[in-house]
Amino acid sequence: MIRKEVLEFSPYKVLEGDYKIWLDKNGNPFDLPREVKEELLEEIKKIRFNRYPHIDSDPPKKAESLGFKKDNIMVGNGSDELIPLFLQLFEGEHVVISSPTFGMYGFFSRLLGIRTIDIPLGENFELQNVEDFTKNAKAVFICSPNNPTGNTRSREKIVSIFETGVPVILDEAYVEFSGISNTGLVKRYENLIVLRTFSKAFGLAGLRVGYAVGNEYIIKLAKSIKAPFNLNSISVRVAELMIDRYDLIKKNTEFIVKERERMARSLRGHAYPSKANFLLVNLNAYDFLLSKGIVVRKLSGRLEEMVRITVGRREENDAVVEALEKFLDNI
Ligand code: PMP
Repeated sequence: MIRKEVLEFSPYKVLEGDYKIWLDKNGNPFDLPREVKEELLEEIKKIRFNRYPHIDSDPPKKAESLGFKKDNIMVGNGSDELIPLFLQLFEGEHVVISSPTFGMYGFFSRLLGIRTIDIPLGENFELQNVEDFTKNAKAVFICSPNNPTGNTRSREKIVSIFETGVPVILDEAYVEFSGISNTGLVKRYENLIVLRTFSKAFGLAGLRVGYAVGNEYIIKLAKSIKAPFNLNSISVRVAELMIDRYDLIKKNTEFIVKERERMARSLRGHAYPSKANFLLVNLNAYDFLLSKGIVVRKLSGRLEEMVRITVGRREENDAVVEALEKFLDNI
């Protein structure tokens, strides 16, 4: 009775336990300051909890801040929610991914019974000949900056993929840390959908707010197949208010970028260049760091001997660097 695709899954596991430093999920090390939370609470008090939220939770302010209209944007309960939605929008026989990349593209494709063609990234984690596999494809996933490698995709390369006419889902979850966005290209390419999130630079991972930017027609169709009222009233309101507090977000983002570069320098050539809020580190140090109370991301497949480390607060980063220096002294 159970679909065979489902029997192949096991629940998403995350490490839990009493560790002192958590740098495994690429979240933001900074919670909102207390006074900002107080202000938000005042706003939350005004919400009528007995009422359903706006049907689409349209974020007109976010659209405006990106130079778009509200019809170009839709929100999701985290950007994760939007991945299967867009997969169900397009005709086609397969999706194209380029591993190593964010696992949810493959996860939702498998769940929906869609064949995945993987064109692995090259030696320096650059995109390969994805264009050759776009015929009859439902969509191509591009992640820039890419999780877990941290590098960005060149505009020239992604444009050559857009030019094939295939629907492209461009995941810019970490874009604020890179300063390089291709969201504006939505105006030129109807086949481009950009996914973004409030979970990383905006520090609202706990509220689950993501959004897609795309052509009005595509967004209208995507809204027609989503669950109504998919975002709760509190998350929407807080996200909206944080758009007005971009000064705060910007300050934290700049700090994280500086810390990323400082950590990368300290790791004596073992960190790959990154434009995100994490570093891919070419050291098989997962167990060693865990033994020091530091949780990082264990990787698999081609990156099995590496770890992904989220940039944290200064003292957390110092602890990681210090631990890895000891690790390096012992190998
Ligand atoms: N895309 C990428 C590349 C990510 O790394 C993540 C979070 N790990 C997401 C999307 C999901 O973000 P959200 O919290 O908005 O669901």
